[in-house]
Amino acid sequence: MSKNLLLLAGDGIGPEIVAEAKKVIDKLNQKMSLGIEYSEGLIGGCSIDAHGVPLTDETIDIAKKSDAILLGAVGGPKWDTLERAIRPEKGLLKIRAGLDLFSNLRPAILYPQLADASSLKKELVADLDLMIVRELTGGIYFGEPRGVRTLENGERQGYNTMVYSESEIERIGRNAFEIAQKRDKRLCSVEKANVLEVSGLWREVMERIAKDYSDVALEHLYVDNAAMQLVRAPKQFDVMVTSNLFGDILSDCAAMLTGSIGMLPSASLNSEGLGMYEPVHGSAPDIAGKGIANPLATILSVEMMLRYSLNMSDAADAISSAVGKVLDKGLRTADIYSDEVSITKVSTTEMGDAVVAEL
Ligand code: NAD
Repeated sequence: MSKNLLLLAGDGIGPEIVAEAKKVIDKLNQKMSLGIEYSEGLIGGCSIDAHGVPLTDETIDIAKKSDAILLGAVGGPKWDTLERAIRPEKGLLKIRAGLDLFSNLRPAILYPQLADASSLKKELVADLDLMIVRELTGGIYFGEPRGVRTLENGERQGYNTMVYSESEIERIGRNAFEIAQKRDKRLCSVEKANVLEVSGLWREVMERIAKDYSDVALEHLYVDNAAMQLVRAPKQFDVMVTSNLFGDILSDCAAMLTGSIGMLPSASLNSEGLGMYEPVHGSAPDIAGKGIANPLATILSVEMMLRYSLNMSDAADAISSAVGKVLDKGLRTADIYSDEVSITKVSTTEMGDAVVAEL
């Protein structure tokens, strides 16, 4: 049965890195008869230029009918002076909300070949393989009431509300347990239950649903301790699940443990398993058009897509193994290059071609 993939290359280096991911999909299609067909759409600045808006309703409709979406990146200086409501980044928020992508998966994987790129000691991070599951459509970023009001004494006061319903906690919790079942079966739930009522409820729901996943070991950590543990001994974690605000901060912190933003994929899923896959980095306008962007984060986003939305884990394994072999051979784009005898600097297309050759 064929699978429909929507490609949204976006702006800046987006088209360059998505082109390399396409080569990888074409190779897998040919070698493993995956039957992946793709259509292409516009998002971000390129959509503003063509249609006056960062994402059209027609593109959302195509996305809803697809089996998965692969996104490059959006944004750039050309559109930075536009009104906030029609900036490229609004296209991202619109597609996340339109598809109800409530679960954001941010792996932090450090290939042993790149352990020197981390700011932590090599032995603390080599072979790091951690998955952060962040709730993406609730919590303090969306909670009402919110705003800035003027108090009786004339002073202004800003306020936001951290709010989670039991059903919102349960769906992200179940999602995280299921992911832990496919990995090392250890889940760490992160909140601030010693101070926040919303976190107390979060912990209670996690405890309740844990009974349905008796093969997964659940532990709880307060977010301040979790942040400390992440930079002290990150390899102790397998899967972490947390709310929107805490996940935003912890996932960026975990990303930096790996030292290279050009290597990190991500996924955002809804309850039907429809997912949008994208590199963690942005459109990198400073290097766009130079042919030096690292396409591996996007290629590894394809790997996640095969695993989590298309149930093609053999093909996903083939990608991770091919990327490992390319790194073993010493091939590096500029962002992960180090001046050593065994290391060769390659361009965006050369890196994509090398992965295809290994496949
Ligand atoms: P960025 O991630 O685009 O770039 C940060 C730095 O990392 C730059 O020096 C860039 O050259 C480098 N870099 C990023 N990806 C790389 C890759 N694949 N290979 C090699 N080097 C890479 O972040 P920024 O500069 O803060 O933002 C640039 C634009 O991207 C802005 O318009 C921002 O709004 C947008 N943005 C989009 C997304 C997204 O589409 N999901 C995410 C973040 C930022």
